[in-house]
Amino acid sequence: MQIYMPTNVYSERNCVKNHSKELASLGEKAMLVTGKHSSRINGSLEDVEHALQEEGCAYVIFDAIEENPSIETVMKARELGVREGVDFVVGIGGGSPMDAAKAIALMIANPKEDAGILYEKRDLSALPVAEVPTTAGTGSEVTPYAILTIHERRTKQSISYRIYPELALIDSKYLKTEHLSTLIDTTVDALAHLLESYLNTNANSYNRMYAEKGLSLFGGIKDELLECKRLGKEPQETLADAVFDDLMQIAATAGMAITHTGTSLPHGLSYALTYEMGVPHGKAVGIFLPGFLEHYQAKEEVQEALARMGFENVERFTAYLDELLGKVEISEELWQKDVDVIMGNQAKLRNYPFKMDKETLYRFRR
Ligand code: NAP
Ligand code: ZN
Repeated sequence: MQIYMPTNVYSERNCVKNHSKELASLGEKAMLVTGKHSSRINGSLEDVEHALQEEGCAYVIFDAIEENPSIETVMKARELGVREGVDFVVGIGGGSPMDAAKAIALMIANPKEDAGILYEKRDLSALPVAEVPTTAGTGSEVTPYAILTIHERRTKQSISYRIYPELALIDSKYLKTEHLSTLIDTTVDALAHLLESYLNTNANSYNRMYAEKGLSLFGGIKDELLECKRLGKEPQETLADAVFDDLMQIAATAGMAITHTGTSLPHGLSYALTYEMGVPHGKAVGIFLPGFLEHYQAKEEVQEALARMGFENVERFTAYLDELLGKVEISEELWQKDVDVIMGNQAKLRNYPFKMDKETLYRFRR
């Protein structure tokens, strides 16, 4: 067995301020990579700016990362980064800015190369990256993955390089401005990471420790999450600070879990829904979790995962997710295409420990 988890992780209140020295020690000039609005509202961008100012470290801001970031946006940021001579990158936001930060760090470090290198397997390195998450979902603050939208192919795919953040500064206070739907979708993304890692060809006792911890934590907050949805109120009105802390921990441990195993079929099936129908990442993945558990052949492992979350059986789990996420209608044409694409995706099929056939995969849509 082997485990490799090189990111230095601080998870505590005000950790950006507390660890400003470590942040500034990554280089001389930073590029702060963030989305269009939310990091200004939740205080994360201001915290990072203050921390760098405190340490006398220069920076520029690139604040045009869209949801499901594209290669084109990464290349625009590279242009600014090269022009400004930055030597490290800080991703601030949800998975979109955090993933983009890794790809941008690779492109700035290789200024003469074009975007083609993102999907080539070459021995190239990236600038150092730090991540400050403001959603509790992707775990990108600890994973080496960076998923980009490839418009040419009408889909999303992780770049070919494994870029581990040097530093992850996790503070759950940033979650408090999240709308209910984003909080739910991102939590379900983390849940999918836990399940797809736990039930995975590459699962072993080391990396399962992360998934086991995350599933138990999820079991502890799942009722509060559903109650929040039933009340229809914004999370900050109903959830205690301890719940926000747990959500961040669930996402980070889930990220650590998939770092070692990769994701599986629900993630593979989700990308077409996000691209073609605009379904948010977590929701697009979540709707395939019931089918994934129902058809998984090692029933005792499924039972173990369900028990950790506090569900008696797959039916209870399914009813919970249905209420939390609502339904997504997928057209027959899109679904047939999606199933065909995944049946040809060896990387995703390899992570599923049993033989998958088209008829069974087809039944993942409910
Ligand atoms: P996201 O796309 O980063 O953000 C979704 C929305 O939430 C944006 O509108 C964003 O606003 C807003 N937002 C972010 N933080 C907020 C806060 N604290 N309060 C209020 N609004 C906030 O969503 P995500 O689900 O975190 O990331 C999804 C991306 O990550 C996808 O591209 C997915 O493929 C990728 N992903 C990566 C990994 C990995 O291992 N690297 C794993 C799973 C998924 P702004 O645009 O204004 O910031
Ligand atoms: Zn995901």
